[in-house]
Amino acid sequence: SKVPPIILNNGVEMPQLGFGVWQVPDDEAEAAVATALEAGYRSIDTAAIYGNEEGTGKAIAASGVPREELFVTTKLWNADQGYDSTLRAFDTSLDKLGLDYVDLYLIHWPTPERGLYIDTYKAFEKLHADGRIKAIGVSNFLPEHLEKLIGETSVVPAVNQIELHPHLQQHDAREYHAEQGIATEAWSPLGQGRGLLEVPAIVAIARKHDRTPAQVVLRWHIQLGNVVIPKSVTPSRIKENIEVFDFSLDAEDLAAISALNEDRRLGPHPAELN
Ligand code: NAD
Repeated sequence: SKVPPIILNNGVEMPQLGFGVWQVPDDEAEAAVATALEAGYRSIDTAAIYGNEEGTGKAIAASGVPREELFVTTKLWNADQGYDSTLRAFDTSLDKLGLDYVDLYLIHWPTPERGLYIDTYKAFEKLHADGRIKAIGVSNFLPEHLEKLIGETSVVPAVNQIELHPHLQQHDAREYHAEQGIATEAWSPLGQGRGLLEVPAIVAIARKHDRTPAQVVLRWHIQLGNVVIPKSVTPSRIKENIEVFDFSLDAEDLAAISALNEDRRLGPHPAELN
């Protein structure tokens, strides 16, 4: 495979780069995911709330790629938190995807005011024990949410998927995850393409390596050890974004990108979304 795996804390292998489908309408998801699978992606990141699990599932079914070579992630939406509702929502997602297991299931947001992420996670543990999920994890959890979760449940999350890009480098979260054996997965790894790809330092590094700014940013994540799931519906960009395993940034490049941190979020603060 083009993309090397990382080994999660339960021994499951996860490709370090996958394809994200947020904001891809269901009727376009099939073509986008098909293009990604053809380009060599083997990991797909969707969510119930994206409304494109069916299109994603159709592309998977039509691709002919053996199921065991794929790594499919979906996420439980906030309104479905709670033990029984999680079991039901999982069945719905699996049905829409047309699969009999997912590789990774994530709690989409902690929504701390609901006070349900522990019960929700206990349902994840059951589904995991039943073999219907290979690895369980969370998304948008702050270290304080992870600490409570780890204290009150049995399976340390394999992954925390958080907003992370050169303008929001998440040093504290990454350090906490590393201490706990949790893989850090970066959402909006390209900063949603808004401005980040025109930052002069990144453009200069791209010229130096004869690469694109998007490839430089993705390579920065890879060398930091992050899992990345860039999104595009443009075939040339889908192909470009996976071609990041045949060059390296040097220490000077990494330092120049690390200097771009502004602790600036594009999405909501996880303590405030409920
Ligand atoms: P991203 O950082 O992947 O940026 C995507 C945008 O960048 C594209 O729409 C396009 O405008 C631009 N782009 C992509 N490739 C490019 C290239 N090669 N050259 C120039 N521009 C390019 O943003 P994202 O979609 O927000 O995040 C990626 C994935 O992360 C999502 O699709 C989704 O799967 C996941 N995500 C998860 C959460 C969460 O709460 N867990 C939130 C947001 C996103």
